Amino acid sequence: MSDCLFCKIRDGQIPAKLVMRDDRCIAFEDINPQAPTHVLVIPKEHHVTVGALAVADPGLLGEVVEATSAVARQEGLVSDGADEPGYRLVTNTGPEAGQTVFHVHVHVLGGRGMGWPPWPAG
Ligand code: AMP
Ligand code: ZN
Repeated sequence: MSDCLFCKIRDGQIPAKLVMRDDRCIAFEDINPQAPTHVLVIPKEHHVTVGALAVADPGLLGEVVEATSAVARQEGLVSDGADEPGYRLVTNTGPEAGQTVFHVHVHVLGGRGMGWPPWPAG
């Protein structure tokens, strides 16, 4: 996709702080972090939403999730054999959910306590 922000980051046309790269995915720091650790994991291939990716290439979706797990270990959010202190994965689909970049990405958030439900009371 020629006019996609995350395709441009993938291609090095827009700078980003890369934290991980493998054959089919990259991970970089979110420019507007919402937690001490806030990393975005994307497939290199352009897909719009997680649902579209699941239909087009479920294996790649699995690789994206595997990459989030590797990022969480690398960033010290979990260690081998212990799911502590923990982290949250978020994938927004559509404007009402807050999706602003239409190249599928998974937010890896950690380093602070996370509330649940994930919206303000009232
Ligand atoms: P979403 O709102 O779920 O689509 O998430 C898009 C995310 O991309 C937001 O958290 C933004 O802060 C982040 N973002 C936007 N532009 C950049 C950029 N140039 N580099 C890194 N993250 C970005
Ligand atoms: Zn893209």
